Order: sequence, then C-alpha cells, then structure tokens
Amino acid sequence: MLLFLEIFTVIVIGLILGSFSTALIYRIPRHLSWTLERSICTSCNKPLRVFDLIPVFSWILSKGKCRYCKISVSYIYPLIEVISATVCLVVYMVFGLKPEAFFIFAAIPFILALLFIDLKHMILPNQLVFIVLIIGIIRLIYIYNSSHLLKIEDIFFTYFTGALTYAFIPWLSGMIMTNLLKKESLGFGDVKFFFVAGIWLGFDYLPFFLISSGFGAVIFALLWKFFKNKQAFPFGPALIISFIGLLLLQGFLYHENHYY
Ligand SMILES: [Zn+2]
Repeated sequence: MLLFLEIFTVIVIGLILGSFSTALIYRIPRHLSWTLERSICTSCNKPLRVFDLIPVFSWILSKGKCRYCKISVSYIYPLIEVISATVCLVVYMVFGLKPEAFFIFAAIPFILALLFIDLKHMILPNQLVFIVLIIGIIRLIYIYNSSHLLKIEDIFFTYFTGALTYAFIPWLSGMIMTNLLKKESLGFGDVKFFFVAGIWLGFDYLPFFLISSGFGAVIFALLWKFFKNKQAFPFGPALIISFIGLLLLQGFLYHENHYY
C-alpha cells in the first residue's frame, strides 16, 4: 500500500514537473517571464483555470483543443508531461526516495526544457544550463556533508577538475573542426553543458559520456538528415539523453556507501 502511494506520488510529481517544463519550453525562447505570469491560451489570450492546467488529463478531456477558442493544442505538451513522469518513475526505481533522487527531480524540468528547446530552436539557453549547474553544486555539497570518507580535495578533483576536462575536450575539438571546415561546428552552449555534466557525473564517467554522446550524436545526425534533410543538427539531445542515462547508471552501480 505504501509502495503504491509512493509510486502514485512520484507520477504526480513527474506530471507537475513536466507541466512546468512545458511552460519553460514555451516561454524561454520567447523571452517571457517564466515565474510570475499566469498561463494563458496563446491563441485567444484567455487565462487558463485550474481545470485547464491538470497535466495530460486536461488535454485529453478537451480533446486537444483550447476550451475557449477551440484551437488545437499540440500533443507535444502532454507528451512532455508523460516523458517527465516516466523519467521520475525510473529515477525512483533506481534511487528510491533518497535525497539523491530529489536533486534529480529538481533538475528534470530544466533538463527536459533544454532538450526540447534545442530540438526546436538549436540553442541551449544559458539560464537553464546555469540552473542545472547550481542544482549540481548543491548536490555536491550534500554528498560532501553526508560522507565520512570524502575529503574536499576529492570533490574538487573528481568534480571540478573533472568538469573542466569535460568542457575542454569539446571546446578543443570544436576549435579544430571550425578551423578545418571553416565554419562553426559546435555551439558554445554544448561546451557549457559538458561542464555541467562533469559537475554531476565526475571524472570517472568522462569516457562513457564522450562515447555515448558521440554515438548518440551520430545516430541523431542521421535521423535528422533523413527526416529534416538538413546538415546542421542540434547536439543537445544526444548530450542530454547520455547525461540522464549515465546519471541513472551511476545510481544503479554505486549504492549509498560507495560515494556518500
Ligand atoms: Zn484559446
């Protein structure tokens, strides 16, 4: 019964975080404030009521249309809410309701927003990358405080030096590629995301992150060329999916005593 209650709570949290993520995805590229204003229908400007804002269910009940002006609301919004709930559920399965899980829950809306904004606009907005960085640093403080074994130097070496190394590799390869191809080949947003991934994953995971994101990028580039017929493709989705995957793998491999 308690287990059922936990799962239910995690799903609800995941849907709410997903709903917050859709607001970020809509508002940040349009330079709208993402905290204060109430949600409105973007077509008829009617303020949305509580009933219109229930993740997934509002969309299903209104058959994917605005209740006021009947314009279609993209399926991408409920889809993101479902993805968010699914990721939260997997995080819960790996970590349980340990503090570690809550740091990841807190980062999920921003990580998903980065993924979907990069897919659509080919940018990784600084403010979102920065928030994921800050949550990562707070998590490091937590790891340091709750460990009897870790010294501050270990944290600095594993995570901060690690993060600089993460960022240096794409920066260097980007520079070389840009000089060889005579065109911009890797966005600086991607380099910043590498740094953030280093803060979360630490030095040990660098080779895995490079391999999985590189592999992911090749597959993604082919799909992008096939479906969109464009050369330039966003690197963010491959980075973000590898990042989430490795974070879960890390949680799966290292149980509490190992790195706390
Ligand atoms: Zn409307």
